Amino acid sequence: MAVVVMKFGGTSVANIERIKNVARHVKREVDAGNSVAVVVSAMAGTTNQLVEWVREISPLHDAREYDAIVASGEQISAGLLALALHKLGISARSWQGWQIPIITCDTHGAARINRIDPEKLKKRLSRGEVAVVTGFQGIEQSHQRIATLGRGGSDTSAAAVAVALGADVCDIYTDVDGVYTTDPRIVPTARRLARISYEEMLEMASLGSKVLQTRSVELAMVHGLRLRVLSSLTEPENMPAVDVDRLDEYGTIVCSEDEIVEQQVVSGIAYAKNEAKVTILKVEDKPGVSARIFGPLADASINVDMIVQNVTPDGKFTDMTFTVDSTELPRALEVLRRVSEDIGCHEIISSDNVVKISVIGVGMRSHAGVAAIMFDTLAKKGINIIAISTSEIKISVLIDSDYAELAVRSLHEAYGLDAEEAS
Ligand code: ASP
Ligand code: MG
Repeated sequence: MAVVVMKFGGTSVANIERIKNVARHVKREVDAGNSVAVVVSAMAGTTNQLVEWVREISPLHDAREYDAIVASGEQISAGLLALALHKLGISARSWQGWQIPIITCDTHGAARINRIDPEKLKKRLSRGEVAVVTGFQGIEQSHQRIATLGRGGSDTSAAAVAVALGADVCDIYTDVDGVYTTDPRIVPTARRLARISYEEMLEMASLGSKVLQTRSVELAMVHGLRLRVLSSLTEPENMPAVDVDRLDEYGTIVCSEDEIVEQQVVSGIAYAKNEAKVTILKVEDKPGVSARIFGPLADASINVDMIVQNVTPDGKFTDMTFTVDSTELPRALEVLRRVSEDIGCHEIISSDNVVKISVIGVGMRSHAGVAAIMFDTLAKKGINIIAISTSEIKISVLIDSDYAELAVRSLHEAYGLDAEEAS
């Protein structure tokens, strides 16, 4: 028998019908004799609504009250699911973060989980009771206030509960049936990956794939916890209950690299639309200039991603291009205007008509020529590369957003990721 943590996202608990459906997924596991803790998000749209109300009253709100308010969505879905389970004859109770307790740091709105005391949950599970845990929240210890883990934080709650319980698997149920080689809405031939490594999943998450919160993958990686992404929209009775030896039958398993037998060189193509590019024209090319540009941006907590510097032929000046999150663009320009005199620059231009396309794969570590294929493929389609950045397992390029779909499709094909045509 397995200890299973099942996490259901907002779309999976969006209405009463879906909550009843979730209860049937849980029943399947209970009937098979598995011990189950469920972690739920708020019903779809609820958290957004709560955040909006907070902002309407006070844009510069007290973060502790923000947390008290936005954490409430999960209290509703957890209680409703416990009731739906009772209806199916299953013994269950809801748990809020503070009742377990899930202890967090005091960074309200983006708290990290420090520890979870699993004893109470373990005792209930051993009696065959299902624990329905509110995702996204915990309690901060020094002032005993509710703290939330940042948007999408229920994934992290689930991974942390799974680690604390020593669970065999943490199943993340969502509205897609796994992790794909790329967005199937853009590339219909995209394939579901049977397995993906923690590192690759981390890159995908940080590159804008919304499937899992980055922190949940980090936690799983550190503790060697198996995460599995699967769809809650599948008929609950059509899926097998968790059997640790047969996890591969459904969804995508996020696991360590050496558990993946058929490793591809490239596992996926990601794209991020929320990029904006800033170019500072004709700054003096001398020591200290970069520090005077990027220092003030860092002081304003603005994250800079790709950076390119072009020196003019006479060697006296340079153009500096870099990217920031498009929501940060106005603030970045504001900071740069302040320092522009100091750095002796002539003009600042910006655009958010850019996208970042990335190819990801742990196989890159041992294979040459992955970047060359990328550049060659884009060149053949006449797509200009504005900036490039790389890591050990990723190559990203910045291109004009008009070409985003063409680029993703061509790269998907070039790396042999397309599913074989059904005959
Ligand atoms: N309900 C929270 C959110 O919408 C947490 C989560 O869904 O993971 O961000
Ligand atoms: Mg999510």
